[in-house]
Amino acid sequence: MFILKGIDQLEKAIIKAKKTRTTVKFISFGVYSVKGTKGNFYTVECRKVGTEKQVICECLGASRGLVCWHSACALSLHVGLARQRQTA
Ligand SMILES: [Zn+2]
Repeated sequence: MFILKGIDQLEKAIIKAKKTRTTVKFISFGVYSVKGTKGNFYTVECRKVGTEKQVICECLGASRGLVCWHSACALSLHVGLARQRQTA
């Protein structure tokens, strides 16, 4: 898990995410399933706890507190959905 503080934190992960062109499945608002490079799926949870934005991914990198590209994929979808919700 890591705490999202700004978009620059995601920069490298976004580059990797774009290169990988993976599939992101919508599970529910804030919960997504991202296909990994080996064809396995990682569940990524984006949630807000107080003022903190927490991102939880099942992969090894994220469990060490790293910003993984799965999270970047899920977040790009999540941010779009959150924006739609606010304007709906
Ligand atoms: Zn991950």
